[in-house]
Amino acid sequence: MHRKVHKIYMAAIVVGVAFAAGLIYYVYFAHSPSLARTEKPQHIIQKFPDPRQTTYCMGLYLDMMQRVLYGSTVLETVNTTKGPINELWFTVYPDAFRDASTSPAPVDAYYDGFDPGWIKIKKFKVNGRINEYEIRGVSVKIPLSGEILPGKKMKIEINWECKIPKLAYGYGSKDGVFMLENFYPAMNIMDEKSWQHSEQAPQNRLGFQSANYIVRLNIPDGYSFISPGRVSDSLAEDNGRQTFMIDGQNIRDFCLLVMYDYKEIKAEVKGRTLKAFVPSSQAGIERSILKNSGEILDYYSRALGEYPDEELALAIVPVKTSHGMEHTGLILLGQDVLAGKAECKKILADSMAHLWWHNLVGSDSLNEPWLEEGLAWWSAQQYLQSSRIEAAEPELPAQYKDKADFCFVLEKKLDRDDMFRILQRLIREFRYGMATGYDLNKIIEDETNQDIKSCL
Ligand SMILES: [Zn+2]
Repeated sequence: MHRKVHKIYMAAIVVGVAFAAGLIYYVYFAHSPSLARTEKPQHIIQKFPDPRQTTYCMGLYLDMMQRVLYGSTVLETVNTTKGPINELWFTVYPDAFRDASTSPAPVDAYYDGFDPGWIKIKKFKVNGRINEYEIRGVSVKIPLSGEILPGKKMKIEINWECKIPKLAYGYGSKDGVFMLENFYPAMNIMDEKSWQHSEQAPQNRLGFQSANYIVRLNIPDGYSFISPGRVSDSLAEDNGRQTFMIDGQNIRDFCLLVMYDYKEIKAEVKGRTLKAFVPSSQAGIERSILKNSGEILDYYSRALGEYPDEELALAIVPVKTSHGMEHTGLILLGQDVLAGKAECKKILADSMAHLWWHNLVGSDSLNEPWLEEGLAWWSAQQYLQSSRIEAAEPELPAQYKDKADFCFVLEKKLDRDDMFRILQRLIREFRYGMATGYDLNKIIEDETNQDIKSCL
């Protein structure tokens, strides 16, 4: 390159970087539309940890041969509760797979006989001090030696490793595909009263607060991966491995899929990038996944409010299941999903509804699991009816079967437009946060002057 041109080029880069930095500052800090939207009306109590003030920095190294993921986490947050915090609670989901008797996976998903999965915590440090901890099923209690006062920052450092079982399930590996949902220690939620925790993994999806993530991922060459957030940097090492830097905001759970020999296609829908990933051996089916999910994304964006992330990936994984597994920015679909056309739409309609009713607006998965399930179910039915697909039969686990139809009961008292107006407001007010049946009732009361507590 000519010297003078080089100089001009360099100057352009400097100006460009300065401009980009200014723009980033402007977009994220000065006038952030996403931050402004998360601001809550006075009556809503923000649960802890606050999504806007919580960051998980994780280093992840995947050993394919041993099927072990080595992890280090630095979690920074602020005590946004009204009182001092003297203990912390985390969930360690991989420990649910330690014993055949507690494993949430069906027996036939263990394609090579029972193979235990687990997580080992090697060190727990809070604000620079090594802390004792007690493991209770899938929960970890960390009694603090000194309490953390309201408004004070906390830095939690955890070294851990998790074993990935030979298992055709959302946490497991098969055919060179590593499906890693809820694989890392995640901080539980504290509401105004106490910590939410359970020794058993709940039968439905786990509920956590959204947070910011900065992740450094190291995997062998030749493998690819899908995760929420965006890749900001990558490096091919000379030891046959590669490192990726990933970052993202407002991530409810950081689900990771590491795979080999997949085919990818993409499309733009409503300003969002939709991607479908399928194993090369099944190439051909990605088009119908993309077409169907595009239609559904379009419908929900109009009915409920725009899809919050820039990208959504849908991936076929070697799991036998009749439903999708939805995570921030990523939906895992069992390989039988495309068995029937209408069936595929029903599965996608339910899974994608959970992008709004779980990922965007969370709920208390221990005490009110029926809330997000009910909202997703009703939303999915609206889409299916609009595209003239016969309404799906409810297949809801027993613990919320009798409650999850509350939207249909509501719809009889209100009308459909009222319903959508109420749901849109619930999404606006509880974006990236947690909503309860009480919050929903408050909005209904406000919008319609009706008290419908009896429906919830
Ligand atoms: Zn569902």
